[in-house]
Amino acid sequence: MGILKGKTAIITGATRGIGKGIAERFAEEGANVVFTYASSEEKAKAIEADLNSKGVKALALKSNAADYSACEDLVKMTLEQFETIDIVVNNAGITRDGLLMRMSEENWDEVIDTNLKSVFNMTKAVQRTMLKQRSGSIVNISSVVGVKGNAGQANYAASKAGINGFTKSVAQELGSRNIRCNAIAPGFIETEMTASLDEKVVQEWRDAIPLKRGGTPEDVANATLFLASDASAYITGQIIHVCGGMLT
Ligand code: NAP
Repeated sequence: MGILKGKTAIITGATRGIGKGIAERFAEEGANVVFTYASSEEKAKAIEADLNSKGVKALALKSNAADYSACEDLVKMTLEQFETIDIVVNNAGITRDGLLMRMSEENWDEVIDTNLKSVFNMTKAVQRTMLKQRSGSIVNISSVVGVKGNAGQANYAASKAGINGFTKSVAQELGSRNIRCNAIAPGFIETEMTASLDEKVVQEWRDAIPLKRGGTPEDVANATLFLASDASAYITGQIIHVCGGMLT
């Protein structure tokens, strides 16, 4: 059962938060899942075992999304074990926040390489396979900040705005081969990371959102599932905001 039955998906950065939510949702819908992590080996192995127990084939691989040849190796390893790669979700991302005055060159480069170059790396690496298959769905995890901007996040906002432009361009280049490329732009999603923030501040954020709550990884996973699946067969080059109406 499931709308992704028989499909193989690669998800970058799925040891926690949104990526983990997407991996779980995809497995529930029957997809085989290859997911990556940067350093959380133990968590990755536990998630791999949990996904395998859902009756699909799951594989956790340590792979740096910012590294071009590591992404090529990831695709190679996936193809050794699975026949196709139907879906790629570029989720791995980091923040190195700070006002421009204090933002170092290293803070800039790290964020651009991990959030934006990674999307180029993975799309390049998987392109040949999807062209041969004449099908594929690439979903890039962007952010509302890529459209709105945010003080203290110039590097992050630039990386996410870059993802949006890349997504629309790839959709135009590869559409004739039935390869779709879309982005999800989450707003404020409550994850383990945000659990450590001051509750009063978080409540103010929730109050400012039309739907009056932060999003969950599952909210983002459901929209990603739609874009990954054939249910969105006529949708490409779009940025879908999953933000409770934060951006209208
Ligand atoms: P998170 O909880 O910090 O998880 C990030 C994941 O990416 C982890 O699995 C991490 O692996 C992995 N990762 C980090 N650097 C990597 C690298 N170089 N190569 C491969 N994997 C790497 O993040 P999140 O909050 O779920 O966010 C996921 C995505 O959604 C990001 O692109 C983020 O920008 C975007 N987003 C999040 C929010 C939000 O409110 N949370 C809002 C808008 C957009 P390790 O555990 O091994 O470090």
